[in-house]
Amino acid sequence: MTAAPTTPQQQALDVLKRVWGYDAFRGVQADIVRTVAGGGNALVLMPTGGGKSLCYQVPSLLRPGVGIVVSPLIALMKDQVDTLRQLGVRAAFLNSTLSLEGVREVESALLAGELDLLYVAPERLLLPRTLELLGRAPVALFAIDEAHCVSQWGHDFRPEYGQLGVLPERFPHIPRLALTATADERTRADILRVLGLEGAPQFISSFDRPNIQYRVAAKEGPKSQLLDFIRGEHPGDSGIVYCLSRKSVEETAKWLQAQGVDAVPYHAGLSPRERNTAQERFLNEEGLIVVATVAFGMGIDKPNVRFVAHLDLPKSLEGYYQETGRAGRDGLPSTAWMVYGLADVVNVRRMLAQSAAPEDVRRVEAAKLDALLTYCEAATCRRQVLLSYFGETLPEPCGNCDVCLAPPRVRDATREAQMALSAAIRTGNRFGAAHLTDVLLGRDTEKVRAMGHHQLPTFGVGRAHDEKTWRGLLRQLVSLGYLAAGEHHGLSATAKARPLLRGEETLHLREDTLAPRPARDRSAR
Ligand code: ADP
Ligand code: ZN
Repeated sequence: MTAAPTTPQQQALDVLKRVWGYDAFRGVQADIVRTVAGGGNALVLMPTGGGKSLCYQVPSLLRPGVGIVVSPLIALMKDQVDTLRQLGVRAAFLNSTLSLEGVREVESALLAGELDLLYVAPERLLLPRTLELLGRAPVALFAIDEAHCVSQWGHDFRPEYGQLGVLPERFPHIPRLALTATADERTRADILRVLGLEGAPQFISSFDRPNIQYRVAAKEGPKSQLLDFIRGEHPGDSGIVYCLSRKSVEETAKWLQAQGVDAVPYHAGLSPRERNTAQERFLNEEGLIVVATVAFGMGIDKPNVRFVAHLDLPKSLEGYYQETGRAGRDGLPSTAWMVYGLADVVNVRRMLAQSAAPEDVRRVEAAKLDALLTYCEAATCRRQVLLSYFGETLPEPCGNCDVCLAPPRVRDATREAQMALSAAIRTGNRFGAAHLTDVLLGRDTEKVRAMGHHQLPTFGVGRAHDEKTWRGLLRQLVSLGYLAAGEHHGLSATAKARPLLRGEETLHLREDTLAPRPARDRSAR
């Protein structure tokens, strides 16, 4: 150490050592602490597990007054405060779980200057009474955690967060620190605008999580694929399995239990007590699997989650990154595993097509969905695709994703794509994948006959391939936007398909969806 013991840097390190027992800051933490402790504002973009908490906790101890932490995670406040108290930090929280008496106690401690850190739920902060109180208390800084919640573009908009502009208005001279683990350009701009942080330094850490292995596979029987994955690669490990609906959460958890896997369900339809029990068990036990909707996980800090599995498509790449980011916080090898299929893709496309949201919102949602599906269909390093979405460039393929480990062969699929697109067009752009597959394979079904589709030139042109191949190809065409999914799951060729149909463009697709017949018999779904 060259610095004299009295420099701000040294003081920060002293606090870090004395209170937390850590010897050094990680990455940009030191710069952030220096900025905020010196009275400046900042935006911090750091992946989950990167160490955001210390960025406001240390400056709160260094500056006179109390650090106010705005957080939507009411369920976790008590734990966070308990942990800090054990370290000797004078911490408290204000939220709806406190009794009237409890609130009074915290308020008088606040006014008496007896607190180092105070966690506040946004709706509580916005109460005139609280704002007035903060006007009279010595405040060291405002830390706005999960700051992406201010943005409607994010996946987690909270109306109260949208009103946090009151902070720069009423307390312009108190430093504000916005922290988030997910923020694309648009969300970032919203955070800066709402919280009055234009011009403030932005600290952006790499989002790469090298210890997480990314894998995406075609859905062929999701439950047994999941079981194979758990048994084969993560027996006895803690993990999270994400499903879209409460029903599939329940079913999957039950099914895993029946197979002798220790699993519990978690979704918003369970009682608070059941949810708490599941969460507590997950945090405290080893080898428990939580099958959950996205309701589970925000703020969960369990270092040794060995895998995160998606049985349904996440909402966006931000959501995917955040959910998979719950794996491997201890830095040890972990897996992000996902299966998805034609029906999933058709569903998400259809939901978007039928959304009643305003045009500009829909455009953003469509772009987010495109990014997600591009990731899913990627024939290049997944980590590169993922990181480039967050504005980061990974110069070399990562060597730790399914594409790098077993490069899929890519093949010219122009002819097959033309066949599939013609089948959609010639049947009137209104039939679903199952019927189109029947037409391509030349299956003489009742529906085919009733519609007269057995007389089309396209009937049976795809006999050289099997059903699974056609479904995989249709999935890719929907994912990549050559086919649109509309009402009743009907598929229609889009404008993007025209050059392909005219032979002005070629299409290269992953060979795994172009298996020639007879493919090994796995029940195609
Ligand atoms: P985030 O809020 O960004 O998800 P946390 O603040 O919860 O991350 O930190 C994640 C983990 O890393 C915590 O267990 C924390 O104690 C640890 N950690 C953070 N910074 C340091 C550091 N400088 N030295 C050692 N451990 C750290
Ligand atoms: Zn890779």
